[in-house]
Amino acid sequence: MATKRDYYEVLGVSKTTPSNEIKTQYRKLALKFHPDRNKSAEAGEHFKEISEAYAVLSDPEKRKVYDQYGQAGVDGRYSSEDIFQDARGDFSDLFGRSGGFDSIFESFFGRTGGSSYRQQRGSDILYETSVTLEDVLHGKKMEINLHKEIQCDICNGSGCKPGTSKNACSTCNGQGQVRKSRSMGFASFVTVEPCSTCKGHGSIIQTPCSDCKGNGKKKGSKNISFDIPAGVDNGDYTVPEEGNEIPGGVNGDLIVRIRVQAHQKFKRDDMDIFYDQDISMIDATLGREITIPTLDGTEKIKIEPGSQPNTIIKLKGKGVPHMNSKSRGDQYIRIVVNIPKKLNKHQKILLEEFQKSAE
Ligand SMILES: [Zn+2]
Ligand SMILES: [Zn+2]
Repeated sequence: MATKRDYYEVLGVSKTTPSNEIKTQYRKLALKFHPDRNKSAEAGEHFKEISEAYAVLSDPEKRKVYDQYGQAGVDGRYSSEDIFQDARGDFSDLFGRSGGFDSIFESFFGRTGGSSYRQQRGSDILYETSVTLEDVLHGKKMEINLHKEIQCDICNGSGCKPGTSKNACSTCNGQGQVRKSRSMGFASFVTVEPCSTCKGHGSIIQTPCSDCKGNGKKKGSKNISFDIPAGVDNGDYTVPEEGNEIPGGVNGDLIVRIRVQAHQKFKRDDMDIFYDQDISMIDATLGREITIPTLDGTEKIKIEPGSQPNTIIKLKGKGVPHMNSKSRGDQYIRIVVNIPKKLNKHQKILLEEFQKSAE
């Protein structure tokens, strides 16, 4: 659901490119866009983009998740930190410890050198919904009204009564953090901690906004639209930064928990769907063309003369779409042969005749 470019496209490789070639290609691009070498404004963002693509595609497990479930699959299973964490060894190999990757890496997450005040993040919101198998085929546009914490519109998130402003905190001189030194034996340790007077904000509200009581946020609701992609399966998918808002920080995520409803006619297994078709004993014996339902509508199939019970007929490409490509799974039709439970007199005579002729 995030509008990220395809990882393969970002690195300029294909789905079948082996991992050692992906590494070579990443090295080439990383050297070109490493912010130490490339001073253009987009280099940092681009470096992050290729690094993320590499972090996912270089890890066999994450690559598999991406191939099968796409971006939403990766977002639903891994945080940004999970994605980069496992590839850090590789990054160090490529850039060396002195290549500055650690500092770039930390800048991705708004932390520099571990000493500055960490940006606050709003909490995530879980939203549960169910979709039909037809929605899985076509994808679904969702428009929901979500109750959540939103930035206060009276004070624009500042927490100050309109017309008033914040004062710099005198305890920390507006730094939001205080240095404390402790001596232990021969050594003395300096630690940097968030200022307790201003709770790390660096400023103090003089007259709080009466609407949000100085919090800068309040309970509210927002209309949110997002796409459930075709091919979706049961699981959690992330809509980034549509969770609870936090003024001056990063909004939480909206986690969409999807359950695919059972279908009246079809059973789904991954990308394939299964369907049982009843036919009469006579049709199984003599053969016949029949019409069966598919996810798209109907399809004519031929029952061969002499078809045995539980014969499986495959309809190629009539299954569920792959989340990451245009290909679709298959539909499997199982032939269920009905044996008549009751015969009238005439039918009985005919079958007895048939039996005699077969002896
Ligand atoms: Zn302070
Ligand atoms: Zn307010």
